[in-house]
Amino acid sequence: MRATIVGAGIAGLTAALALARHGIDVEVFERAQVLKEAGAGLQLSPNATHALASLGLLPGLQKIGFEPQSAEVYRASDGVLLLANPLGATARARWGAPYLQVHRSDLQALLLAALKEYRRVSIHLGEEVAGALSDHKSAYVQMKSGRLVASDFALGCDGVRSVVREALFGKESLQFTGQVAWRGVVATDDLPRGLIPPKAVVWTGPERHFVHYYVSGGRAVNFVGVVEQDWHHEGWTTPGDPDQLQQEFSDWPDEVRHLCAAVRQPFRWALYGRPKMTQWTKGRISLLGDACHPMLPFLAQGAAMAIEDAVVLANRLKVLEDPTLALKAYFSARIERTAKVQAWSRRNARLFHLPGPAAGLAFSAARIADRMTGSDPLDRMEWLYGYEAL
Ligand SMILES: Cc1cc2nc3c(=O)[nH]c(=O)nc-3n(C[C@H](O)[C@H](O)[C@H](O)COP(=O)(O)OP(=O)(O)OC[C@H]3O[C@@H](n4cnc5c(N)ncnc54)[C@H](O)[C@@H]3O)c2cc1C
Repeated sequence: MRATIVGAGIAGLTAALALARHGIDVEVFERAQVLKEAGAGLQLSPNATHALASLGLLPGLQKIGFEPQSAEVYRASDGVLLLANPLGATARARWGAPYLQVHRSDLQALLLAALKEYRRVSIHLGEEVAGALSDHKSAYVQMKSGRLVASDFALGCDGVRSVVREALFGKESLQFTGQVAWRGVVATDDLPRGLIPPKAVVWTGPERHFVHYYVSGGRAVNFVGVVEQDWHHEGWTTPGDPDQLQQEFSDWPDEVRHLCAAVRQPFRWALYGRPKMTQWTKGRISLLGDACHPMLPFLAQGAAMAIEDAVVLANRLKVLEDPTLALKAYFSARIERTAKVQAWSRRNARLFHLPGPAAGLAFSAARIADRMTGSDPLDRMEWLYGYEAL
């Protein structure tokens, strides 16, 4: 069986590896001339590390990752702790896989190194895809150069502005959320010693919030600061003005101010909402990752969902040899879960930006409910982190 993959992001590379492990020949077409991930971190919750472990990547992940002790939410105005979920050994014991924080380029390098083991996987760089279609025999991917590549099936892993999605289902409708994410990575040595705790931390405030956590084994700190603002550019590599970033968070806690002051080049990303798709598969072509379920980054699950997609799809292809049936089965297995994650991400966008007293009330209601029902706060995450991609 031969597959064509459009896009060599996290979805495309993970899918290539998952398919290659099942003996499928894979050609990946990526429009970038060089594969280098924009400097940014990713939180990989146990559902994602479990799926990556099934591809043999756990030892490598443990080398590149940082395991936080806990995830904590604070109110920025007075430093009150609103929520604390233990991670570290607790997460490992509960879910059988670690919660890790990684640099995107480290994860990309790990996937590429694993793919080198498979001679029947080829990655073509500088190849922009212009469209895709399929008939009863083959899937066809059309290059911008005019070349047509035929295979048994094709996967659109080409991100939020997917041309494969557009070719299959027409123009998308998208809506600006009014929110802009500032992001950056700072070397730990450039920060006051001990300032950043070994935890995933969210600071909340009216109309903005700020997240920070270690990546690259603790040698760097990744941050994302979301502000409500009328600015509309969506892209990983759009630089932002460091002075403007400092002004946005000038009266926030020390950790936030030091990170904003230390970053050499922050980037900005306008956040768009997109409705749930009702179909991802047409004939011999399907979509994975942000191409079919782009989500706001407030549950840290976009890459995790792309990774799960890849493993589930490869397993369907193993069981159902007809790719049209396997692609349909993959869609049925994934649609409800990814839609729920999209909805929770939207809900967190509102929760994190509530004004002070309302934020306190929202989080304490959850704590009181846990105490009354005797439940562990991690029970609330069971559906998400306890999922095993099969
Ligand atoms: C601020 C922010 C923070 C985030 N934090 C987290 C987090 O902590 N945890 C998490 O799990 N997720 C997080 N995410 C989400 C995550 O980054 C994405 O969901 C994930 O990168 C999607 O991967 P993908 O491969 O589907 O798309 P992409 O990473 O966008 O990859 C698409 C690839 O396709 C290529 N391509 C596009 N068009 C074409 C074409 N026509 N021809 C050929 N190639 C093409 C692109 O060049 C690119 O390489 C975050 C997102 C943002 C914005």
